[in-house]
Amino acid sequence: MDFQPILDDIADRLQRELAQEGPRGQVAQYIPALARVDARRFGIALRCGDGQEAVAGDGAVPFSIQSISKVFTLTLAMRHLPEQQLWARIGREPSGNPFNSLVQLEFEQGTPRNPFINAGAIAVADRIVGLYGADALRELRGFMSHLAGEPIGYDEEVAASEAATGFRNHALANFMKSFGRIDHDVATVLDLYFHQCALRMSCLQLARAAGYLCRDGAHPLRADTPVVTERQARRINALMLTCGTYDAAGEFAFRIGLPCKSGVGGGIVAVVPDRLTLAVWSPALDETGNSLLGMKALEMFTQRTGLSVF
Ligand code: GLN
Repeated sequence: MDFQPILDDIADRLQRELAQEGPRGQVAQYIPALARVDARRFGIALRCGDGQEAVAGDGAVPFSIQSISKVFTLTLAMRHLPEQQLWARIGREPSGNPFNSLVQLEFEQGTPRNPFINAGAIAVADRIVGLYGADALRELRGFMSHLAGEPIGYDEEVAASEAATGFRNHALANFMKSFGRIDHDVATVLDLYFHQCALRMSCLQLARAAGYLCRDGAHPLRADTPVVTERQARRINALMLTCGTYDAAGEFAFRIGLPCKSGVGGGIVAVVPDRLTLAVWSPALDETGNSLLGMKALEMFTQRTGLSVF
């Protein structure tokens, strides 16, 4: 299948819709660096397991990947930690709650529902601090660059704003600590979490970096280098499908039918197992924190191509 004309057409239509009707939804407002992003941006890119790539609109423009990073930190933790150790204090059930909800965490004695809500990702960050100590930030950046095939960096302004305004994330981390579910210094763990949210990548870089998820765990650019095992790649995809878009996971499965991970920067990464990885970006969000046009673009893509896990 030649995907370039399909992406061109999707970008064309959605950019026209943005120009004519203006953006619906709202760009994330909680930090200045996200609030000033132009809501009229739209990008899309994909990479097939065999190396074919396609990119359209703003698909090569870097943005704040935010919660999409949770897929990569989970992958990093899965690579290096024994299963029981990683999953002992993190669940694998959809939350049905907003990504930064506190109530559920109290009901469940400080054990996050899954690794993709904020509490779960903070718990994963705690394990990564356990693995790398003071080198955790450098290791994560190195891992992202290794996957993308080119240097990836943090936006320090975003990281600093996340830290200055992340009162709920501070609360979640301290709450888990009070239940004995966080091993390391809360400030160090949150520094990693705020930096992972501040990774800057384009749709094309994301489609490349996530490539192991459509290649049975093999490195996106080098078939002979495993990132994770086939079984682990399947499990990450399963978690993305059930938990990757918070309390909109059912709607995503219904409308799109692919494992997806979203972020409040307006990006969404989607996986067609054994075929390709796809990333979209449009900053205006719906009330669940998912990109409105990103969702629409993914729906158009699956309708046109007939690709789905179902
Ligand atoms: N930085 C955001 C937060 O921690 C990330 C949330 C998201 O992308 N859903 O609240």
